[in-house]
Amino acid sequence: MKLEGIHHITAITGHAQANLDFYAGVLGLRLVKKTVNQDDPGVYHLFYADEDGSPGSDLTFFEYPNAAPGRAGAGMVHRVCWRVASPDALDFWERRLAGRGVAVARTGGGRDGGDGGRGASGRDDGGDSGGGGGLIFTDPEGLAHELSVSDAPDEPLPASTPEIPADLALLGFDGVRVHSSQPHASTQTLGEVLGFTAQDDDGLWQARGRRRGSFYAYDPAPEGKGRQGAGTVHHVAFASEVADHEDWQQRLAQAGLRPTPVIDRFYFRSIYFREPSGVLMEIATLGPGFAVDEDPERLGERLSLPPAFEPMRERIESILTPLASPRAGATG
Ligand code: ZN
Repeated sequence: MKLEGIHHITAITGHAQANLDFYAGVLGLRLVKKTVNQDDPGVYHLFYADEDGSPGSDLTFFEYPNAAPGRAGAGMVHRVCWRVASPDALDFWERRLAGRGVAVARTGGGRDGGDGGRGASGRDDGGDSGGGGGLIFTDPEGLAHELSVSDAPDEPLPASTPEIPADLALLGFDGVRVHSSQPHASTQTLGEVLGFTAQDDDGLWQARGRRRGSFYAYDPAPEGKGRQGAGTVHHVAFASEVADHEDWQQRLAQAGLRPTPVIDRFYFRSIYFREPSGVLMEIATLGPGFAVDEDPERLGERLSLPPAFEPMRERIESILTPLASPRAGATG
């Protein structure tokens, strides 16, 4: 029983329209589901991903309108790392982001071709602008992203937009970087319970199943406490085969991690728990996926509500801010 890398990453925004403009309009991801936070149905839950809404490429946001800016501290994901195909793609993104007023920095360089451990070199934020390496930037609310050239064997997961050629697009997650003041407290949970593989003694792990893998890397925590708010990650979900999901719940419970029961999120099923470094984790099933209630051609165009919330549609729609899709504008 193995986890198939990252399933999705969920963060917080205070401005859904600006968030949509950045992730769909600038980064070229596809809005694959526009729904509400099932634990708080008066707020949006926006899902961005590749063209098919695949696990492994799915970045989601809860909108808390005008939320105060947060700050990533110990026990929080502080950077979302994506794969691109080539150094040309890094050059493309450096130009595209800079051209839209986004500050970008080059990192690392001269990486070797080791599988999986690649993201670890993001540890060096020296801004060295040699060949290779990665590109770091933040979204308008301060959430940090890194793009790296990947030679991972996994299926690339691009979205398709007229402005971004497929060979230059983001190709799904490479991993996440996490702040921890006590990474060794998590060793047993990551290695023995979750089945991650240690890539070094310094807090770099790999979660790899039969189809995909992702890295999970610890960095020292900054001074001061973190604060959940706009521009911070709320949780990271790892992917489980549907058939293994109940067994994961039992395994987490037996390990004393106090997981939630399995919760049906309609698009997938979820279990939540906190790993010892403090990061809120989820294990989410690989199905049924976002086409369960929408035509795959029209994902994310209207507000999707799981059946339990459908009777509240009128009230929910009156609370939510209307959103203009950059994609709809681009394709006329
Ligand atoms: Zn989640």
